[in-house]
Amino acid sequence: MRKALIVIFFAIIFILVVLGIFFIRMTGRAVVDFPGGDVRFSPGEPITYSFAKPGGLFERECRSYEIDRVVEAFDILSNLTEGRLEFANASSDALIKIKCYKAKANGLGYMLAGEGGYRAEAQKIVGAELKLYTHMNCGTWPDLELHEILHIFGFGHRDDKQSIMNPILVKCDLGKIDKDIIGKLNELYS
Ligand SMILES: [Zn+2]
Repeated sequence: MRKALIVIFFAIIFILVVLGIFFIRMTGRAVVDFPGGDVRFSPGEPITYSFAKPGGLFERECRSYEIDRVVEAFDILSNLTEGRLEFANASSDALIKIKCYKAKANGLGYMLAGEGGYRAEAQKIVGAELKLYTHMNCGTWPDLELHEILHIFGFGHRDDKQSIMNPILVKCDLGKIDKDIIGKLNELYS
């Protein structure tokens, strides 16, 4: 009886440790801006994007409101950088491929509802992926989409609760992007 309790006790400790490691990995608090040095898309050229046709496991067609939110996020970035960033919808060979998934987002953190990442060669971004999971729509401003797109541009997580790069957004409709992020984008793309 006592032996069984000890086994259960250690099993619970083990599960908690594994969950802890998993949670840290998901929120990615260790991520910093431009970990491998500055990277950027070719400046002066429109950054192309496309919504991928679902093909892989758990992929689904993006819903129209999801498409609208992504396009709005691109518009916001374009406006805030005074057109230095320009985005163009392309049917094939797009730099940013956007995919929607059937997988449910982790309800604990809004920002776990998506993922954004890039591939770079010699500091030049040659491809990127924006993944969106099914989540409860939160507000009207595209916080989640901007957060994930900024990962694509090389920005990491921040502990600041007023930052768009906070991995767990406390409130929806933040409505602003950190001034230094816009400053860095203006510097990289001017
Ligand atoms: Zn993130």
